[in-house]
Amino acid sequence: MNSSDEVVIITSLGSWHRPVIVGVPFQTLGFMALKHIKDAYQRAGRHAVRGLLLCGLLLVPAATLLANYSTGVFSGKPYEPDDLDLSLPSDSSNQLPELGDASQTVLSLRDEEKIAHQILKQVATSEDVLDDAEVTDYLQALGTRLGESSPDRQQKFYFFVVQDKTINAFAMPGGVIGVHTGLFMAANSESELASVLGHEIGHVTQHHLARMLASQKYDMFKNIAATALALLIARSNPQVGMGAMTAASAAGIQKQLDYTREHEREADRVGLTILQDAGFDVRAMPAFFTTMQRATRFSDGGSMPSYLRTHPLTSERIADIGNRVQNLPYKQANEGLTFFMMRAKIRAFQGAPQQMVEEFQNNINEGRYQNELAEHYGLAYAWLRANQAKNAQLEVDWLVQHGMANPYLVTLKAVTLAKLGQVPQAQAQFVQGLQQYPKHRMLAQGEAESLIRSNQWPQAITFIQKQLDTFPEDPKLYDWLAAAYQGQGKQMLRHQALGESYVRKYDLPRAIDQLEIASKAKDGDFYLQSKVEARLKTLRQQLKLEQGDDKNG
Ligand SMILES: [Zn+2]
Repeated sequence: MNSSDEVVIITSLGSWHRPVIVGVPFQTLGFMALKHIKDAYQRAGRHAVRGLLLCGLLLVPAATLLANYSTGVFSGKPYEPDDLDLSLPSDSSNQLPELGDASQTVLSLRDEEKIAHQILKQVATSEDVLDDAEVTDYLQALGTRLGESSPDRQQKFYFFVVQDKTINAFAMPGGVIGVHTGLFMAANSESELASVLGHEIGHVTQHHLARMLASQKYDMFKNIAATALALLIARSNPQVGMGAMTAASAAGIQKQLDYTREHEREADRVGLTILQDAGFDVRAMPAFFTTMQRATRFSDGGSMPSYLRTHPLTSERIADIGNRVQNLPYKQANEGLTFFMMRAKIRAFQGAPQQMVEEFQNNINEGRYQNELAEHYGLAYAWLRANQAKNAQLEVDWLVQHGMANPYLVTLKAVTLAKLGQVPQAQAQFVQGLQQYPKHRMLAQGEAESLIRSNQWPQAITFIQKQLDTFPEDPKLYDWLAAAYQGQGKQMLRHQALGESYVRKYDLPRAIDQLEIASKAKDGDFYLQSKVEARLKTLRQQLKLEQGDDKNG
């Protein structure tokens, strides 16, 4: 690929003891004139923006759009068919779906769910996916609130955050929706963020992907999940991503894009209705789309990828939303503090720690913020990253004095105490916090980790087992549980817990491996042995069922 800066982001959002180093390569595409967007990137010490793409109708059957998307948007380079490996049978790229006959031959809900699980399996282990229970749960709660106002209330949605500074969001089959940190940064209000989520939810509930896939061969969409995740791979390793991209034809792409325009309009309309029904400021939608369209225009310096040139964030589309909004009653949305806090937290974990400290400080000194409390909250995390917990403590005190009272502050307090080496106080804070906010997952994760790190095995086991009633789907809690059993030398229980962790990462083969090890560990009683074997049987059946589906499909 062409010249690429390697930007290393050190993140330890999920567990502050173990920073994960994530290499994010990205290229300069152009200059974004809109000041607040530019500022967002400057804060991270880079002004590079690879591209901007609101819509993520990414997974089209012949992989053409995706190939285009990947060569274009991700690399900042115009689409060039010659770059692609044309290894698929040539007819597969010519079979274009007809929008009209769509709903007859769509993916079954079960197909969509299976694809969703395959994608979520990748999401669970991808280093590009933000591992932070607070940010993820916030986005999930926001998206769920929107989803409940969608035309299809049965549809499940899974939201996750991709660590990528480009402004993007994308929907995948089965209700899996990814949001880039860059989009989070560019949004000026919760309603703006919600307007993009609403649009993506619109793609899901209208089953656009399934409709586009309708006339394709099953072989083509069997690999959607793999193709989808080529996106994430392409991000951290462009060469590998390229290999996953296959057949493309220029005519096919153009035709695909025509369909996409229809889908875009429909997703906008559905999204707008969702936004209104869920009580958000509908004016945020045309406003944010205009912001993004402008940013697109400024990035067009001849290097604009063809996908962006033709991708439908058009004036026509924005005008359509604008007209609809004019007819809707004005509603003052409550632009919650949490949105600004989560945005500040994401920001605090970008760029060099000391630089981020200075940036937050400058913003506070010069009054350059939308929410003062959130700015101090972000500064505290920047101090923690810079290993200056005492300064973080001062920010915590400031927030308390200024009336902040929420689970995010309790978490920050506890994390700061842990960083100061005051482990018992930190643990007391986590536990008190959970009494007040029993559904705040990060408090549970924090306490579990703290107990493990201080070798308090029995306490950890009791605590985690209780928390699993509230958070039965959290793989991290199972991982900590496994660590506690390991500390006690209990092999059967350890591998049983690891197995359950893999189940929650949608990885059945690995889960089965762990339960097989558990069943042979010989250090459990009869009751545990039977339980492990019963579970093993269930999981094997489940796996067989899924594989059977593939064969029969
Ligand atoms: Zn879209």
